[in-house]
Amino acid sequence: MKKQAVGFKFALVMLLLAGAVVTFVSFSLDAKSQDAGEKKKALFVWGGWEGHQPRQCIDIFAPWLEDQGFEVEITKSLDSYLDAEKMERLALIVQAITMGQITPQQERGLLAAVRRGVGFAGWHGGIADSFRSSTEYEFMVGGSWAAHPGNIIDYEVNITNHDDPITKGLTDFKMHSEQYYMLVDPNVEVLATTTFSGKVLPWIEGTVMPVVWKKLYGKGRIFNITLGHTAEDFNVPQARELVKRGLLWAARVPGAGNDPVQTNPYLPLLK
Ligand SMILES: [Zn+2]
Repeated sequence: MKKQAVGFKFALVMLLLAGAVVTFVSFSLDAKSQDAGEKKKALFVWGGWEGHQPRQCIDIFAPWLEDQGFEVEITKSLDSYLDAEKMERLALIVQAITMGQITPQQERGLLAAVRRGVGFAGWHGGIADSFRSSTEYEFMVGGSWAAHPGNIIDYEVNITNHDDPITKGLTDFKMHSEQYYMLVDPNVEVLATTTFSGKVLPWIEGTVMPVVWKKLYGKGRIFNITLGHTAEDFNVPQARELVKRGLLWAARVPGAGNDPVQTNPYLPLLK
């Protein structure tokens, strides 16, 4: 009886070991085929309000991403979000659509892909002022546009995290553009901010507002930057560089940065 029980335990341990070896080998093969495999794929989707020059802005970043070894597709059709097979293969979606409409089916396709691990990135109103009636979409992005007091004004962008690969080595810089006032999810990591002077709206004087943030939605990385009212904004080297680095981070390019750490502004209230 005792001998049989020992034999059974031995067989069980061997079975578990064999299972672990098979799992490890198949995982290694998966990782290998991905590493040695095809180029990372990025989908640029543009549309919405033309005043934001979505196509001109994409024409700055899409060729550059190609130079980084990505396979790039540019489309104006949100129906790409319905194509589960295509979405499955993407590393990154870059969207430049201010306002506009998304159908519930398109939204479901996008959210599912990002939850599974596809990165999602954009600038200005391209992701953070899209589809204003889609609350789950806004929850994914982690913030939405509310105002740009004074329209085109002079303001400063302050780098608040000097260690993150997205902002490392960059200094504070000036913009002559729209200063975006956002409604922001506290569950984001803020990398750069701007402070409102109160010259236009006295009651917001001193308000520190995120300009660059990163966050997760499921397994997908979300990168947002509020600069980029028109393509001209990206003549500012820091603004252009922040987008480039943010795209690489969202696409999980090795060395582009880690998953976000919350910089919740409400935490100090608990201390
Ligand atoms: Zn704008």
